[in-house]
Amino acid sequence: MLVEYRNEPFTDFSKEENRRDFESALAKVKEELGKEYSIIIDGKRIATDKKVTSLNPSKLDEVIGYVSEADQNIAEQAMQNALQTWETWKKFSPEARASILFKAAGILRRRKHEFSSWMVLEAGKSWPEADADTAEAIDFMEFYGREMLRLSEPQPLTPMPEEENKLTYIPLGVGIIIPPWNFPLAITVGMTTAAIVTGNTAILKPATPTNVIAYKFMEILEDAGLPAGVVNYVPGAGPEVGEYLVKHPQTRFISFTGSRAVGLRINELAAQVGAGQKWIKRVAAEMGGKDSIIVDEDCDIDVAVNSIVKSAFGFAGQKCSACSRAIIHESRYDEVLEKVVAKTKALKVGETTDLSIDLGPVVDDKAYNKILEYIEIGKSEGKLMAGGGKAEGNGYYIQPTVFADVDPMARISQEEIFGPVLAFFKAKDFDHALEIANNTEYGLTGAVITRNRTHLEKAREEFHVGNLYFNRKCTGAIVGVHPFGGFNMSGTNSKAGGRDYLQLFMQMKFVGEQL
Ligand code: GLU
Repeated sequence: MLVEYRNEPFTDFSKEENRRDFESALAKVKEELGKEYSIIIDGKRIATDKKVTSLNPSKLDEVIGYVSEADQNIAEQAMQNALQTWETWKKFSPEARASILFKAAGILRRRKHEFSSWMVLEAGKSWPEADADTAEAIDFMEFYGREMLRLSEPQPLTPMPEEENKLTYIPLGVGIIIPPWNFPLAITVGMTTAAIVTGNTAILKPATPTNVIAYKFMEILEDAGLPAGVVNYVPGAGPEVGEYLVKHPQTRFISFTGSRAVGLRINELAAQVGAGQKWIKRVAAEMGGKDSIIVDEDCDIDVAVNSIVKSAFGFAGQKCSACSRAIIHESRYDEVLEKVVAKTKALKVGETTDLSIDLGPVVDDKAYNKILEYIEIGKSEGKLMAGGGKAEGNGYYIQPTVFADVDPMARISQEEIFGPVLAFFKAKDFDHALEIANNTEYGLTGAVITRNRTHLEKAREEFHVGNLYFNRKCTGAIVGVHPFGGFNMSGTNSKAGGRDYLQLFMQMKFVGEQL
Protein backbone atom coordinates (compact mmCIF):
# COMPACT_ATOMS: atom_id res chain seq x y z
CA MET A 1 0.00 0.00 0.00
CA LEU A 2 1.12 3.49 -0.77
CA VAL A 3 2.39 5.36 2.28
CA GLU A 4 1.38 8.95 2.86
CA TYR A 5 3.52 11.55 1.11
CA ARG A 6 6.29 13.01 3.22
CA ASN A 7 9.30 15.06 2.27
CA GLU A 8 12.65 13.53 1.64
CA PRO A 9 14.88 14.64 4.53
CA PHE A 10 18.05 16.61 3.88
CA THR A 11 21.38 14.95 4.60
CA ASP A 12 23.08 15.94 7.83
CA PHE A 13 26.65 16.64 6.77
CA SER A 14 27.78 17.15 10.34
CA LYS A 15 27.73 13.34 10.57
CA GLU A 16 30.98 11.79 9.47
CA GLU A 17 29.42 8.76 7.81
CA ASN A 18 27.28 11.02 5.61
CA ARG A 19 30.34 13.01 4.61
CA ARG A 20 32.19 9.80 3.77
CA ASP A 21 29.31 8.49 1.66
CA PHE A 22 29.13 11.77 -0.21
CA GLU A 23 32.89 11.81 -0.79
CA SER A 24 32.78 8.35 -2.28
CA ALA A 25 29.86 9.29 -4.55
CA LEU A 26 31.83 12.33 -5.70
CA ALA A 27 34.86 10.17 -6.44
CA LYS A 28 32.73 7.76 -8.44
CA VAL A 29 31.17 10.55 -10.49
CA LYS A 30 34.59 12.08 -11.15
CA GLU A 31 35.59 8.85 -12.84
CA GLU A 32 32.63 9.27 -15.17
CA LEU A 33 33.60 12.74 -16.37
CA GLY A 34 34.40 13.55 -19.98
CA LYS A 35 32.05 11.06 -21.64
CA GLU A 36 29.86 11.66 -24.67
CA TYR A 37 26.08 11.94 -24.38
CA SER A 38 23.60 11.40 -27.19
CA ILE A 39 20.16 12.69 -28.00
CA ILE A 40 17.48 10.15 -27.01
CA ILE A 41 14.44 9.65 -29.24
CA ASP A 42 12.22 6.63 -28.74
CA GLY A 43 14.90 5.21 -26.49
CA LYS A 44 17.42 5.28 -29.33
CA ARG A 45 20.68 7.17 -28.98
CA ILE A 46 21.49 9.65 -31.74
CA ALA A 47 24.95 11.20 -31.79
CA THR A 48 25.58 14.31 -33.87
CA ASP A 49 28.77 16.10 -34.88
CA LYS A 50 27.58 19.25 -33.22
CA LYS A 51 28.64 18.76 -29.61
CA VAL A 52 28.41 21.18 -26.76
CA THR A 53 30.97 20.85 -23.99
CA SER A 54 29.70 20.93 -20.45
CA LEU A 55 32.27 22.37 -18.03
CA ASN A 56 32.66 22.42 -14.30
CA PRO A 57 32.08 26.10 -13.44
CA SER A 58 34.25 25.60 -10.33
CA LYS A 59 37.19 24.32 -12.34
CA LEU A 60 37.21 25.39 -15.95
CA ASP A 61 39.67 22.78 -17.20
CA GLU A 62 37.37 19.97 -16.07
CA VAL A 63 35.01 18.69 -18.74
CA ILE A 64 31.82 17.15 -17.41
CA GLY A 65 30.77 15.75 -20.77
CA TYR A 66 30.30 16.32 -24.48
CA VAL A 67 26.64 16.46 -25.45
CA SER A 68 25.23 16.01 -28.95
CA GLU A 69 23.01 18.86 -30.01
CA ALA A 70 19.90 18.41 -32.10
CA ASP A 71 18.97 20.42 -35.16
CA GLN A 72 15.49 21.04 -36.51
CA ASN A 73 15.38 17.72 -38.39
CA ILE A 74 16.06 15.82 -35.23
CA ALA A 75 13.55 17.95 -33.33
CA GLU A 76 10.96 17.00 -35.98
CA GLN A 77 11.82 13.35 -35.52
CA ALA A 78 11.28 13.76 -31.77
CA MET A 79 7.88 15.36 -32.40
CA GLN A 80 6.75 12.58 -34.75
CA ASN A 81 7.85 10.00 -32.25
CA ALA A 82 6.19 11.75 -29.30
CA LEU A 83 2.93 11.97 -31.27
CA GLN A 84 3.04 8.28 -32.04
CA THR A 85 3.98 7.23 -28.51
CA TRP A 86 1.14 9.32 -27.13
CA GLU A 87 -1.37 6.98 -28.78
CA THR A 88 -0.23 4.16 -26.52
CA TRP A 89 0.92 6.08 -23.45
CA LYS A 90 -2.38 7.91 -22.95
CA LYS A 91 -4.03 4.51 -22.55
CA PHE A 92 -1.84 3.54 -19.61
CA SER A 93 -3.89 3.75 -16.44
CA PRO A 94 -3.12 6.58 -14.02
CA GLU A 95 -1.96 3.91 -11.55
CA ALA A 96 0.49 2.48 -14.06
CA ARG A 97 1.84 5.92 -14.88
CA ALA A 98 2.13 6.92 -11.21
CA SER A 99 3.88 3.68 -10.32
CA ILE A 100 6.69 4.56 -12.72
CA LEU A 101 7.20 7.83 -10.84
CA PHE A 102 7.30 5.99 -7.51
CA LYS A 103 9.80 3.54 -8.91
CA ALA A 104 11.96 6.35 -10.30
CA ALA A 105 11.81 8.14 -6.92
CA GLY A 106 13.02 4.96 -5.24
CA ILE A 107 15.94 4.61 -7.65
CA LEU A 108 16.88 8.24 -7.17
CA ARG A 109 16.66 7.91 -3.38
CA ARG A 110 19.12 5.03 -3.48
CA ARG A 111 21.49 6.98 -5.75
CA LYS A 112 20.94 10.30 -4.04
CA HIS A 113 24.55 11.34 -3.40
CA GLU A 114 25.58 10.33 -6.89
CA PHE A 115 23.04 12.70 -8.41
CA SER A 116 23.94 15.44 -5.97
CA SER A 117 27.57 14.96 -6.97
CA TRP A 118 26.72 15.54 -10.61
CA MET A 119 25.23 18.86 -9.53
CA VAL A 120 28.24 19.75 -7.42
CA LEU A 121 30.36 19.28 -10.52
CA GLU A 122 28.16 20.41 -13.41
CA ALA A 123 26.04 23.14 -11.80
CA GLY A 124 28.44 24.50 -9.18
CA LYS A 125 26.18 23.63 -6.25
CA SER A 126 27.51 23.28 -2.73
CA TRP A 127 26.88 19.91 -1.09
CA PRO A 128 23.82 21.02 0.89
CA GLU A 129 22.32 22.90 -2.07
CA ALA A 130 22.82 19.86 -4.31
CA ASP A 131 21.41 17.55 -1.66
CA ALA A 132 18.29 19.74 -1.34
CA ASP A 133 17.90 19.73 -5.12
CA THR A 134 17.94 15.91 -5.23
CA ALA A 135 15.54 15.68 -2.29
CA GLU A 136 13.16 18.02 -4.09
CA ALA A 137 13.35 15.90 -7.24
CA ILE A 138 12.36 12.83 -5.21
CA ASP A 139 9.55 14.83 -3.60
CA PHE A 140 8.15 15.94 -6.95
CA MET A 141 7.84 12.37 -8.16
CA GLU A 142 6.30 11.11 -4.93
CA PHE A 143 3.91 14.06 -4.77
CA TYR A 144 2.80 14.17 -8.41
CA GLY A 145 2.36 10.39 -8.49
CA ARG A 146 -0.08 10.65 -5.58
CA GLU A 147 -1.73 13.70 -7.07
CA MET A 148 -2.44 11.78 -10.27
CA LEU A 149 -4.09 9.04 -8.27
CA ARG A 150 -6.24 11.61 -6.49
CA LEU A 151 -7.26 13.26 -9.75
CA SER A 152 -8.00 10.00 -11.52
CA GLU A 153 -11.20 9.65 -9.52
CA PRO A 154 -14.33 11.18 -11.12
CA GLN A 155 -14.53 14.77 -9.90
CA PRO A 156 -17.36 15.91 -7.57
CA LEU A 157 -20.58 17.10 -9.24
CA THR A 158 -23.99 18.10 -7.97
CA PRO A 159 -26.12 14.94 -8.30
CA MET A 160 -29.20 15.06 -10.53
CA PRO A 161 -31.97 12.44 -10.24
CA GLU A 162 -32.17 10.08 -13.21
CA GLU A 163 -28.88 11.17 -14.63
CA GLU A 164 -25.44 9.69 -14.44
CA ASN A 165 -22.82 12.39 -14.82
CA LYS A 166 -19.05 12.06 -14.82
CA LEU A 167 -16.31 14.62 -15.03
CA THR A 168 -12.80 13.32 -15.60
CA TYR A 169 -9.36 14.62 -16.49
CA ILE A 170 -7.76 13.54 -19.74
CA PRO A 171 -4.31 14.36 -21.16
CA LEU A 172 -3.51 17.06 -23.69
CA GLY A 173 -0.96 15.66 -26.13
CA VAL A 174 2.70 16.38 -26.77
CA GLY A 175 4.35 18.90 -24.46
CA ILE A 176 7.64 20.73 -24.76
CA ILE A 177 9.50 20.89 -21.46
CA ILE A 178 12.10 23.63 -21.12
CA PRO A 179 13.55 23.65 -17.60
CA PRO A 180 16.24 25.92 -16.11
CA TRP A 181 19.82 25.06 -15.14
CA ASN A 182 19.56 26.40 -11.57
CA PHE A 183 17.56 23.44 -10.24
CA PRO A 184 18.86 21.10 -12.90
CA LEU A 185 17.44 18.00 -11.29
CA ALA A 186 14.47 19.12 -9.18
CA ILE A 187 12.77 21.42 -11.67
CA THR A 188 13.61 19.23 -14.67
CA VAL A 189 12.15 16.22 -12.87
CA GLY A 190 9.12 18.14 -11.61
CA MET A 191 8.17 19.63 -14.96
CA THR A 192 8.81 16.43 -16.91
CA THR A 193 7.13 13.96 -14.61
CA ALA A 194 4.08 16.19 -14.15
CA ALA A 195 3.69 16.19 -17.93
CA ILE A 196 3.92 12.42 -18.32
CA VAL A 197 2.09 11.18 -15.24
CA THR A 198 -0.95 13.03 -16.57
CA GLY A 199 -0.76 10.98 -19.78
CA ASN A 200 1.09 13.28 -22.15
CA THR A 201 4.32 12.58 -23.96
CA ALA A 202 7.17 15.04 -23.70
CA ILE A 203 10.09 16.48 -25.55
CA LEU A 204 12.61 17.60 -22.96
CA LYS A 205 14.94 20.35 -24.11
CA PRO A 206 17.32 20.58 -21.18
CA ALA A 207 19.12 23.76 -20.13
CA THR A 208 22.46 23.72 -21.94
CA PRO A 209 24.77 24.28 -18.91
CA THR A 210 23.31 21.19 -17.20
CA ASN A 211 22.64 18.86 -20.13
CA VAL A 212 24.44 15.95 -18.47
CA ILE A 213 22.35 15.93 -15.29
CA ALA A 214 19.21 15.86 -17.42
CA TYR A 215 20.64 12.90 -19.33
CA LYS A 216 21.27 11.06 -16.07
CA PHE A 217 17.62 11.62 -15.17
CA MET A 218 16.62 10.02 -18.49
CA GLU A 219 18.55 6.93 -17.44
CA ILE A 220 16.55 6.78 -14.22
CA LEU A 221 13.28 6.96 -16.13
CA GLU A 222 14.47 4.10 -18.32
CA ASP A 223 15.49 2.04 -15.28
CA ALA A 224 12.08 2.69 -13.77
CA GLY A 225 10.46 1.11 -16.83
CA LEU A 226 9.14 4.17 -18.61
CA PRO A 227 8.30 3.07 -22.16
CA ALA A 228 10.65 4.43 -24.83
CA GLY A 229 9.50 7.65 -26.44
CA VAL A 230 7.36 8.94 -23.57
CA VAL A 231 10.14 11.41 -22.81
CA ASN A 232 12.50 12.33 -25.61
CA TYR A 233 15.76 14.07 -24.70
CA VAL A 234 16.57 16.77 -27.21
CA PRO A 235 19.41 19.10 -26.19
CA GLY A 236 20.01 22.03 -28.49
CA ALA A 237 20.21 25.76 -28.88
CA GLY A 238 17.12 27.64 -27.68
CA PRO A 239 16.73 29.85 -30.76
CA GLU A 240 17.03 26.87 -33.12
CA VAL A 241 15.56 23.78 -31.47
CA GLY A 242 13.51 25.38 -28.67
CA GLU A 243 11.76 27.84 -30.95
CA TYR A 244 11.12 25.22 -33.62
CA LEU A 245 9.36 23.02 -31.11
CA VAL A 246 7.43 25.88 -29.50
CA LYS A 247 6.14 26.95 -32.93
CA HIS A 248 5.35 23.42 -34.06
CA PRO A 249 1.61 23.12 -34.92
CA GLN A 250 1.43 19.75 -33.19
CA THR A 251 2.81 21.03 -29.91
CA ARG A 252 -0.07 21.02 -27.45
CA PHE A 253 1.56 22.73 -24.47
CA ILE A 254 4.80 24.27 -23.35
CA SER A 255 6.10 24.18 -19.82
CA PHE A 256 8.93 26.61 -19.25
CA THR A 257 10.98 27.84 -16.31
CA GLY A 258 13.67 30.45 -16.92
CA SER A 259 14.18 34.09 -17.70
CA ARG A 260 11.51 36.71 -18.27
CA ALA A 261 12.83 37.44 -21.76
CA VAL A 262 12.64 33.82 -22.91
CA GLY A 263 9.30 33.24 -21.18
CA LEU A 264 7.72 36.19 -22.95
CA ARG A 265 9.17 35.10 -26.28
CA ILE A 266 7.72 31.60 -25.83
CA ASN A 267 4.34 33.04 -24.90
CA GLU A 268 4.34 35.19 -28.02
CA LEU A 269 5.42 32.39 -30.36
CA ALA A 270 2.96 29.96 -28.83
CA ALA A 271 0.08 32.35 -29.46
CA GLN A 272 0.59 32.14 -33.22
CA VAL A 273 -1.51 29.45 -34.88
CA GLY A 274 0.49 27.27 -37.27
CA ALA A 275 -0.75 25.51 -40.42
CA GLY A 276 -3.15 22.71 -39.49
CA GLN A 277 -3.07 23.55 -35.79
CA LYS A 278 -6.31 22.64 -34.04
CA TRP A 279 -5.91 24.10 -30.57
CA ILE A 280 -4.71 27.05 -28.54
CA LYS A 281 -1.37 26.02 -27.09
CA ARG A 282 -1.17 26.12 -23.36
CA VAL A 283 1.82 27.88 -21.84
CA ALA A 284 3.02 27.67 -18.27
CA ALA A 285 5.95 30.04 -17.90
CA GLU A 286 7.70 30.49 -14.59
CA MET A 287 10.08 33.40 -14.90
CA GLY A 288 12.17 35.72 -12.77
CA GLY A 289 12.04 37.45 -9.45
CA LYS A 290 13.31 40.56 -7.73
CA ASP A 291 12.57 39.48 -4.23
CA SER A 292 12.55 41.56 -1.06
CA ILE A 293 12.96 40.93 2.62
CA ILE A 294 11.40 43.63 4.78
CA VAL A 295 12.90 44.16 8.23
CA ASP A 296 10.57 46.00 10.55
CA GLU A 297 11.35 48.12 13.59
CA ASP A 298 10.33 45.53 16.18
CA CYS A 299 12.09 42.37 15.09
CA ASP A 300 14.63 39.74 16.01
CA ILE A 301 17.79 41.12 14.40
CA ASP A 302 19.55 37.76 14.19
CA VAL A 303 16.59 36.23 12.35
CA ALA A 304 16.66 39.22 10.00
CA VAL A 305 20.38 39.02 9.30
CA ASN A 306 20.46 35.25 8.83
CA SER A 307 17.40 35.26 6.60
CA ILE A 308 18.85 37.96 4.37
CA VAL A 309 22.28 36.38 4.03
CA LYS A 310 20.91 32.88 3.36
CA SER A 311 18.33 34.08 0.88
CA ALA A 312 20.73 36.39 -0.96
CA PHE A 313 23.79 34.20 -1.26
CA GLY A 314 22.62 30.56 -1.23
CA PHE A 315 23.74 29.04 -4.56
CA ALA A 316 25.39 32.39 -5.28
CA GLY A 317 22.00 34.09 -5.58
CA GLN A 318 21.08 32.02 -8.64
CA LYS A 319 17.50 31.34 -7.60
CA CYS A 320 14.47 33.18 -8.83
CA SER A 321 13.44 33.15 -5.17
CA ALA A 322 16.69 34.80 -3.99
CA CYS A 323 16.55 37.99 -1.94
CA SER A 324 18.18 40.78 -3.91
CA ARG A 325 16.51 43.61 -1.98
CA ALA A 326 16.76 44.19 1.77
CA ILE A 327 14.26 46.86 2.82
CA ILE A 328 15.00 47.99 6.36
CA HIS A 329 13.12 50.26 8.75
CA GLU A 330 15.28 53.35 9.21
CA SER A 331 15.61 52.80 12.96
CA ARG A 332 17.28 49.40 12.39
CA TYR A 333 19.02 50.14 9.08
CA ASP A 334 22.59 50.73 10.29
CA GLU A 335 22.53 47.75 12.62
CA VAL A 336 21.16 45.28 10.08
CA LEU A 337 23.43 46.57 7.34
CA GLU A 338 26.51 46.31 9.50
CA LYS A 339 25.71 42.75 10.56
CA VAL A 340 24.81 41.59 7.06
CA VAL A 341 28.02 43.11 5.69
CA ALA A 342 30.11 41.41 8.38
CA LYS A 343 28.47 38.05 7.68
CA THR A 344 28.82 38.51 3.94
CA LYS A 345 32.51 39.27 4.21
CA ALA A 346 33.00 36.08 6.20
CA LEU A 347 31.41 33.88 3.51
CA LYS A 348 33.83 31.49 1.89
CA VAL A 349 33.76 31.31 -1.90
CA GLY A 350 35.39 28.33 -3.55
CA GLU A 351 35.33 24.98 -5.31
CA THR A 352 32.15 23.10 -4.63
CA THR A 353 33.86 19.77 -3.94
CA ASP A 354 34.90 21.37 -0.65
CA LEU A 355 32.16 21.04 1.96
CA SER A 356 33.35 24.06 3.91
CA ILE A 357 32.49 26.65 1.25
CA ASP A 358 29.44 28.89 1.50
CA LEU A 359 29.09 29.68 -2.15
CA GLY A 360 30.52 28.30 -5.34
CA PRO A 361 30.83 29.87 -8.78
CA VAL A 362 28.11 31.17 -11.04
CA VAL A 363 27.08 28.85 -13.80
CA ASP A 364 28.82 30.04 -16.97
CA ASP A 365 30.64 32.87 -18.72
CA LYS A 366 27.39 34.51 -19.80
CA ALA A 367 26.15 34.71 -16.20
CA TYR A 368 29.59 35.74 -14.97
CA ASN A 369 29.90 38.68 -17.36
CA LYS A 370 26.34 39.83 -16.82
CA ILE A 371 26.67 39.82 -13.03
CA LEU A 372 30.00 41.65 -13.14
CA GLU A 373 28.40 44.29 -15.36
CA TYR A 374 25.60 44.76 -12.85
CA ILE A 375 28.14 45.11 -10.07
CA GLU A 376 29.73 47.97 -12.03
CA ILE A 377 26.31 49.56 -12.49
CA GLY A 378 25.73 49.12 -8.75
CA LYS A 379 28.88 51.08 -7.97
CA SER A 380 27.26 54.15 -9.48
CA GLU A 381 23.84 53.44 -7.94
CA GLY A 382 24.77 52.63 -4.35
CA LYS A 383 27.51 52.51 -1.79
CA LEU A 384 29.64 49.36 -2.09
CA MET A 385 29.83 47.70 1.32
CA ALA A 386 31.10 44.19 0.57
CA GLY A 387 32.49 42.29 -2.40
CA GLY A 388 32.40 44.21 -5.65
CA GLY A 389 33.97 41.97 -8.27
CA LYS A 390 35.58 38.70 -9.22
CA ALA A 391 36.73 36.25 -6.60
CA GLU A 392 39.87 34.14 -6.93
CA GLY A 393 40.00 30.74 -8.51
CA ASN A 394 39.86 28.85 -11.78
CA GLY A 395 36.11 29.24 -12.16
CA TYR A 396 33.31 31.76 -12.49
CA TYR A 397 33.72 33.05 -8.96
CA ILE A 398 32.14 36.30 -7.86
CA GLN A 399 32.40 37.89 -4.43
CA PRO A 400 29.12 38.15 -2.56
CA THR A 401 28.33 41.82 -2.96
CA VAL A 402 26.31 44.29 -0.91
CA PHE A 403 25.31 47.81 -1.90
CA ALA A 404 23.81 50.27 0.58
CA ASP A 405 21.57 53.33 0.14
CA VAL A 406 20.14 52.26 -3.20
CA ASP A 407 17.27 54.14 -4.80
CA PRO A 408 14.22 51.88 -5.18
CA MET A 409 14.00 52.76 -8.86
CA ALA A 410 17.70 52.08 -9.59
CA ARG A 411 18.51 49.40 -12.15
CA ILE A 412 20.01 47.05 -9.57
CA SER A 413 16.77 47.40 -7.66
CA GLN A 414 14.50 46.66 -10.62
CA GLU A 415 16.34 44.24 -12.93
CA GLU A 416 16.97 40.60 -12.16
CA ILE A 417 20.72 40.00 -11.78
CA PHE A 418 20.59 36.31 -10.85
CA GLY A 419 23.82 36.42 -8.91
CA PRO A 420 25.24 37.20 -5.47
CA VAL A 421 24.29 40.88 -5.43
CA LEU A 422 22.18 42.44 -2.70
CA ALA A 423 20.88 46.00 -2.43
CA PHE A 424 19.82 47.78 0.79
CA PHE A 425 17.00 50.31 1.00
CA LYS A 426 16.00 52.51 3.90
CA ALA A 427 12.25 52.69 4.65
CA LYS A 428 10.61 55.47 6.67
CA ASP A 429 7.99 53.12 8.11
CA PHE A 430 6.27 49.81 7.40
CA ASP A 431 3.95 51.23 4.71
CA HIS A 432 6.91 52.72 2.92
CA ALA A 433 8.71 49.35 3.12
CA LEU A 434 5.70 47.63 1.53
CA GLU A 435 5.55 50.27 -1.17
CA ILE A 436 9.19 49.63 -2.08
CA ALA A 437 8.70 45.85 -1.97
CA ASN A 438 5.80 46.07 -4.43
CA ASN A 439 7.44 48.46 -6.85
CA THR A 440 8.94 45.98 -9.33
CA GLU A 441 7.22 44.23 -12.20
CA TYR A 442 7.91 40.87 -10.58
CA GLY A 443 6.05 39.19 -7.72
CA LEU A 444 7.64 35.90 -6.80
CA THR A 445 8.85 35.66 -3.20
CA GLY A 446 9.23 37.94 -0.23
CA ALA A 447 9.69 37.84 3.52
CA VAL A 448 8.80 40.05 6.45
CA ILE A 449 10.79 39.98 9.67
CA THR A 450 8.76 41.51 12.48
CA ARG A 451 7.15 40.87 15.84
CA ASN A 452 4.32 43.22 14.98
CA ARG A 453 1.19 41.14 14.27
CA THR A 454 -0.66 44.08 12.73
CA HIS A 455 2.15 44.50 10.23
CA LEU A 456 2.21 40.81 9.43
CA GLU A 457 -1.51 40.90 8.72
CA LYS A 458 -1.09 43.99 6.56
CA ALA A 459 1.70 42.25 4.61
CA ARG A 460 -0.47 39.15 4.20
CA GLU A 461 -2.95 41.35 2.28
CA GLU A 462 -0.69 43.85 0.57
CA PHE A 463 2.72 42.29 -0.14
CA HIS A 464 1.92 41.08 -3.65
CA VAL A 465 4.03 37.97 -4.21
CA GLY A 466 3.20 34.34 -4.87
CA ASN A 467 5.30 33.05 -1.96
CA LEU A 468 5.37 35.23 1.13
CA TYR A 469 7.21 34.10 4.24
CA PHE A 470 7.14 35.53 7.76
CA ASN A 471 10.18 35.54 10.03
CA ARG A 472 12.25 33.23 7.83
CA LYS A 473 14.19 33.18 4.57
CA CYS A 474 12.43 33.59 1.23
CA THR A 475 14.07 30.63 -0.54
CA GLY A 476 13.76 26.88 -0.12
CA ALA A 477 10.13 26.08 -0.92
CA ILE A 478 9.28 22.46 -0.13
CA VAL A 479 7.09 20.33 -2.40
CA GLY A 480 3.56 19.94 -1.07
CA VAL A 481 4.31 22.32 1.81
CA HIS A 482 5.02 25.62 0.05
CA PRO A 483 3.49 25.53 -3.47
CA PHE A 484 5.81 27.71 -5.51
CA GLY A 485 5.10 30.29 -8.22
CA GLY A 486 4.62 34.01 -8.55
CA PHE A 487 2.58 36.91 -9.87
CA ASN A 488 3.01 39.47 -12.64
CA MET A 489 6.24 39.09 -14.64
CA SER A 490 7.29 36.23 -12.42
CA GLY A 491 5.05 34.04 -14.51
CA THR A 492 1.78 32.27 -14.92
CA ASN A 493 1.46 31.25 -11.26
CA SER A 494 1.57 27.54 -11.98
CA LYS A 495 2.21 26.47 -8.41
CA ALA A 496 4.88 23.78 -8.61
CA GLY A 497 4.51 21.29 -5.79
CA GLY A 498 0.90 22.35 -5.23
CA ARG A 499 -2.43 20.63 -5.63
CA ASP A 500 -3.43 22.59 -8.72
CA TYR A 501 -0.30 21.84 -10.69
CA LEU A 502 -1.27 18.69 -12.57
CA GLN A 503 -4.45 20.28 -13.92
CA LEU A 504 -2.22 22.44 -16.09
CA PHE A 505 -1.31 19.32 -18.05
CA MET A 506 -4.84 18.01 -18.57
CA GLN A 507 -8.28 18.95 -19.85
CA MET A 508 -11.67 18.02 -18.42
CA LYS A 509 -14.17 15.80 -20.12
CA PHE A 510 -17.78 15.60 -19.06
CA VAL A 511 -20.06 12.72 -19.99
CA GLY A 512 -23.73 12.75 -18.93
CA GLU A 513 -26.29 10.02 -19.45
CA GLN A 514 -30.06 10.23 -19.06
CA LEU A 515 -31.20 7.19 -17.07
N1 GLU B 1 11.77 26.74 -5.47
C1 GLU B 1 13.01 27.41 -5.23
C2 GLU B 1 13.00 28.11 -3.90
O1 GLU B 1 11.97 28.18 -3.26
C3 GLU B 1 13.40 28.39 -6.31
C4 GLU B 1 13.20 27.90 -7.68
C5 GLU B 1 13.91 28.72 -8.73
O2 GLU B 1 14.84 29.47 -8.45
O3 GLU B 1 13.54 28.53 -9.90
O4 GLU B 1 14.02 28.62 -3.50
